[in-house]
Amino acid sequence: MKLYVFPGNIEEEILQIGAQQIPYMRTAMFSEIVKDSERMLLELINCKQGRVIPLTASGTGAMDAVVTNFVCAKKSAFIIAGGSFGYRWKDLCDYYNCPNTVFEVPFAKDIDYSLLEQEIEKHRPEVLLCQHHETSSGQLFNLTTISEICRKYNVTLVVDAISSFLTDDLDMDEMGIGICIISSQKGLNIPPGLSFIVLSEEICKQDFLHNSYYFDFEENLKNLQRGQTPYSPATTLFLQLHHQLKKDMQLGTDKIKSLVREKALYFRKLCKQNNWEVPAEVPSNCITGFFVRRNSDILFTELLKQNIYIMPGGTPGYFRVSHSGVQSYSDLDYLAEQIKQIENLNK
Ligand SMILES: *Cc1c(COP(=O)(O)O)cnc(C)c1O
Repeated sequence: MKLYVFPGNIEEEILQIGAQQIPYMRTAMFSEIVKDSERMLLELINCKQGRVIPLTASGTGAMDAVVTNFVCAKKSAFIIAGGSFGYRWKDLCDYYNCPNTVFEVPFAKDIDYSLLEQEIEKHRPEVLLCQHHETSSGQLFNLTTISEICRKYNVTLVVDAISSFLTDDLDMDEMGIGICIISSQKGLNIPPGLSFIVLSEEICKQDFLHNSYYFDFEENLKNLQRGQTPYSPATTLFLQLHHQLKKDMQLGTDKIKSLVREKALYFRKLCKQNNWEVPAEVPSNCITGFFVRRNSDILFTELLKQNIYIMPGGTPGYFRVSHSGVQSYSDLDYLAEQIKQIENLNK
């Protein structure tokens, strides 16, 4: 099975952990795994004095928790929406009645940063919600510039970095990010089911709301002091996480990102050779989004017949291939060759 989705093909040793018996979690040994994972995550994202709340939930669960515990306490939120994930922030804020303003960015386009600054100056929000990488289009936003604007106008920056952590440059302390959200099946490339809320030192000092029993920040943080989650964690996923993090720490973020980048650049070269347009103005390393020219209506299912999974986009003719999983250049050659053949089928 060839997986160009999230997760991509998972390392064999991580899969093996998933096939083992599951140890009880209220033990010193499991606490050590939780604490050690927190330490490694903080180091990889560079948030030295921060905390990490792990949730047994997909990334949207973590977004939800950030809105109920933190964003709802603020007078106004400003949302950058460059695609479906940006609008998810909007949906969540609306759902919980948090006043918000949306700054729309056209499909696959970069932000007009001077316009963004003008709007921030006008609205003076307390918190800005954005994606680092809008996974629906493949567009990477410039977090350094966004963070400079936030600093200037004293806005707390909350970043959904779910599809940029370990694939693109991300440094919480340097960028002055208040809260980052990440999840297990994207950059970490382990099975889905865990998400993480990384809170900066400054954010940890603030008071949180109590509007969500299961996702309550304070309750989670209290339990984390002893390396435990308040409710049953996805134990196996924590074991896989811990193993993966140890490997990531050994490689280092620069090496991990450059390996992902090489795969992305290689595949984009193949796209160019085949005239598949890559629309993103500033593409992330995480995925390549591209338009095929023919037979887009059958591409997904034809590839499935060969056990190849890619991600359909929301736009006709548009598809996405992830690069965070295990994939070789010859895998990518083969994928491009198959897409080309399907394009050339006479239906
Ligand atoms: C995957 C992803 C999410 C979370 O989606 P889930 O379906 O909850 O896993 C959120 N934001 C971005 C940018 C993503 O790529």
